[in-house]
Amino acid sequence: MTSALALLGGEPTVTGDAPHFSWPPLTDQTAKAVLEQLHDGISIYDRSGVIAQLEDALREYFGVRHALLTSSGTAALYSMYAACRIRPGDEVVVPAYTFFATVTPLLHLGAVPVLADCDTDGNLDPEDVAQRITERTYAIVGTHMWGTPANVGALRRIADEHDLLLLEDASHAHGATVDGRKVGTFGRAAAFSMNGPKPLSAGEGGFLLTDDDDTYHLALMHGQYNKRCRNELPPEHRLYPYAVTGMGLKHRIHPVAATIALDQLGHLDEYLAGRQRIATHICEELDGLPGVAVPRLGSTRMSSWYGLILQYHGDDLGGLPVERFYDALQAEGCRELDRPGSTCPLNLLPLFQEPGPIFPGLQGIMTYQPGDFPRAEAVHHGTLKLPMWHREEDLPLVDQYIEAFHKVTEHYHDLIG
Ligand SMILES: *Cc1c(COP(=O)(O)O)cnc(C)c1O
Repeated sequence: MTSALALLGGEPTVTGDAPHFSWPPLTDQTAKAVLEQLHDGISIYDRSGVIAQLEDALREYFGVRHALLTSSGTAALYSMYAACRIRPGDEVVVPAYTFFATVTPLLHLGAVPVLADCDTDGNLDPEDVAQRITERTYAIVGTHMWGTPANVGALRRIADEHDLLLLEDASHAHGATVDGRKVGTFGRAAAFSMNGPKPLSAGEGGFLLTDDDDTYHLALMHGQYNKRCRNELPPEHRLYPYAVTGMGLKHRIHPVAATIALDQLGHLDEYLAGRQRIATHICEELDGLPGVAVPRLGSTRMSSWYGLILQYHGDDLGGLPVERFYDALQAEGCRELDRPGSTCPLNLLPLFQEPGPIFPGLQGIMTYQPGDFPRAEAVHHGTLKLPMWHREEDLPLVDQYIEAFHKVTEHYHDLIG
């Protein structure tokens, strides 16, 4: 049998040279800024220079009182949790479907993560959250998966009703909005990653946002000891005597990373607008195609398009397994199409099933198993992720990806049997 499909010997659809996508966009201006920073200094111990510039730019961009840079998103989450006074034994409701670093810093505080299932967008399902609240629950943490805002209105109402803290892991969602309001501003505090592929990238880095002075001061104490604490805590503050040591961890960002992020932030809205245009184009062209469902955000939510998630529905294609569909698209040349691996329902990871060997205190307390979160597992299994381009000049390549989807669904019979 002969087939047009590249997987079966046909010609690939996508002919553009690799790589098909790279992020972040680095320009001569980025290089110039980095060189200048090398001369200005590569260690900054207080809130000065590029550290102050970037924190001020973030405060302005998000419209918040405090922004605190950190060495990573994981560090930002850790400082945020510590600053919110999460204590041993506190239960924190977290998404079952998220990157694990949303949750792992909680383990270092002795808190007990309580996983909750997701909605069809892959975000925390408020109804499931409500059912997992006990008298030990202290906080709810929402992630905005792949840049699509979670149902922050409903999460806010549940948090208020039960007198719980609402916190956000907005690591996928810099600049994403709900009713025009930026995610990362809906709870007591929010943490963001600026790791390589994230919508706002420093290469490595992170930050937290809060309007609350006490949370900010405690976050400083957690990971920015000595100079920053001495300079920024008021001398009469009850914690001032601890300023030299803080809590003894160091989460400072590298000034060169901050320089890269400052350069990126200046272009973020332009990048997001470009992503929005191309994502809309892809959704229009793939909408109604059997086998794939395009995301539906409605008119109130704007994604950062960290990823465009197509949900695979094999029933439309004679039960064709997602693996085979994905392989066929890869063979067509869609090398940027991804089935995420390490970002998966946390109950599938050994750490959340049997933590004993590395977190003895959690043995028997965290005992998740495959099957515990059917929706998260189904969403994960059917997830086909595209990165999002932002330049008009990428449109010919994007159109080849679209064509590949049409071709594989048209010829799916060839892949069965
Ligand atoms: C990337 C990411 C993190 C961790 O950030 P790092 O900067 O890699 O430490 C945490 N949560 C989510 C949802 C992420 O995507």
